[in-house]
Amino acid sequence: MWKLMIHGGSGAMRPGHLDPQHERDARAGLSDALEAGAAILSDGGSAVDAVEAAARVLEEDPAFNAGRGSVLAADGHVECDAAIMDGNGRHAGAVAGLRSTRAPISAARKVMEDSPHVLIAKEGADEFAREAGLEQVANSWFVTPERRRQLDELLARGHDAFDAEIKYGTIGAVAVDANGHVAAATSTGGLTAKKWGRIGDSPLIGAGTYADDRAAAVSATGLGEIFIRAAAAHEICARMRFCGHDLQKALDDVLAEISEMGGTGGLIAVSPEGDAAWSFTTPGMYRGLAAHDGTREVAVFGEE
Ligand code: ASP
Repeated sequence: MWKLMIHGGSGAMRPGHLDPQHERDARAGLSDALEAGAAILSDGGSAVDAVEAAARVLEEDPAFNAGRGSVLAADGHVECDAAIMDGNGRHAGAVAGLRSTRAPISAARKVMEDSPHVLIAKEGADEFAREAGLEQVANSWFVTPERRRQLDELLARGHDAFDAEIKYGTIGAVAVDANGHVAAATSTGGLTAKKWGRIGDSPLIGAGTYADDRAAAVSATGLGEIFIRAAAAHEICARMRFCGHDLQKALDDVLAEISEMGGTGGLIAVSPEGDAAWSFTTPGMYRGLAAHDGTREVAVFGEE
């Protein structure tokens, strides 16, 4: 028995209002990511290997706001954040503000496995990743014309990173493997036009990413500042452990609180028992589910 759930961000996606080519590309990218993770899990591989593999596919895909295709900071550069957590022993690694490491999620995994630290940032994080043998690229490699256009448009309108029409394109993966271990991975370019070295919830263990074999593995997308204040991913695990809530209720309740605090977004999660749930307070969320019984589902809009 295994399950894998992924997301490619939440936002104002509505049927008929999404560029058809973009929708096709995003659905194909989600399918590819599911296959990459499912191949590992169906072979008896670990949840950590599966979430890293799925996240890598989405990072490489310019349709999503992670790795190549990340949104641009106000200064025109891409700065990537990522985190990975193994529910078996609660080991975790994260990176923030990467500018040259091609695979942010793999850098996070190296931090987890090959460093004494949990979170490292900026030039030091790229330096660590390079020393760990991970490929380095020019910052321009991450940049797509569409993301450049989005930044120019936002700046021209005088808006900043908290524009109300924002689409959250962060990617994430959660899995439970055949041994009942869970893992979570999240990777993002953050918010368009972010400034001052802003870091969101994605690389913060307990906020945008958390995994605990005693409860669940969780990955978030949405307005990071609110997810940080809600300690969202950890809060879900705490409600399951201490209040006995099931996975879906824990997700729905935490998202409802985030709404009350002024944030929107989405969450995906799996439990060691094999439950899987997603929830979002935006009109849509790019998402997918794969399971041992052959299930393969990809969805974008609310009613699918
Ligand atoms: N949560 C991410 C952040 O605030 C944004 C996203 O989900 O797209 O950095």
